[in-house]
Amino acid sequence: MRISLVQGDITEQHVDAIVNAANSSLLGGGGVDGAIHRKGGPEILEECRRLRASHYGGGLPTGQAVATTAGRLPARWVIHTVGPVYSASEDRSDQLASCYRESLRVADELGVETIAFPAVSAGVYGWPLDDAARIAVGAVRAAQTKVEDARFVLFTPDVFAAFEKALER
Ligand code: ADP
Repeated sequence: MRISLVQGDITEQHVDAIVNAANSSLLGGGGVDGAIHRKGGPEILEECRRLRASHYGGGLPTGQAVATTAGRLPARWVIHTVGPVYSASEDRSDQLASCYRESLRVADELGVETIAFPAVSAGVYGWPLDDAARIAVGAVRAAQTKVEDARFVLFTPDVFAAFEKALER
C-alpha cells in the first residue's frame, strides 16, 4: 500500500472513500464531520439516521466504522469512525488505532482501492498531534488490506508537519 500526505480539505478528495471523524450519534457535528455533511448534502445524514434506527440504535461505538453514501462529494463512500476523546489518565491509543484498522476493514468489504483519512481525534477530541500522527501512521502501515492508496488529508500546517514527522520514522 502507498501512503501519502496532503495538506487540504478531505471533502475535495477524488478517492473511493473518505473517512469521517464522526461522533457516536452519527447525526453530525463540527470540524471535519460538519464539513462532510455540509458539502455532501442531506443524503448522508438520511443514511446515518437509518443506521441509528437499525444496527446502531445506541450509536456507533468508539473505534468502530460504518459506511454510507458520500452524497454529492466526489468520493463514492464516507466511512464514519468514532475516535476516542483524549485522556491524560487513561491510554486510549488502541481505540484510536482501531479507527484506522476498522475503516480499512470496511473499505475492503466495499472493494475500495483509494482512501483518504483525516487526523481522527486530533481536533475537538484533543489528542496531542505528534501522538495522534504516530498512532495513525502506525495503524495504517500495519494493516492487512487490499486498499492500494491511503492518503492522510491534513487540514492545517501543524497537523501536516506532525504526520510528516511520523511518516519519516
Ligand atoms: P475529532 O472530534 O475526532 O477531534 P475534528 O473534526 O474536531 O475531529 O478534528 C479532526 C481533524 O480534522 C483536525 O485536525 C481538524 O483540523 C481536521 N479537519 C477539519 N475540517 C477538515 C476538512 N474539511 N478536511 C480535513 N480535515 C479537517
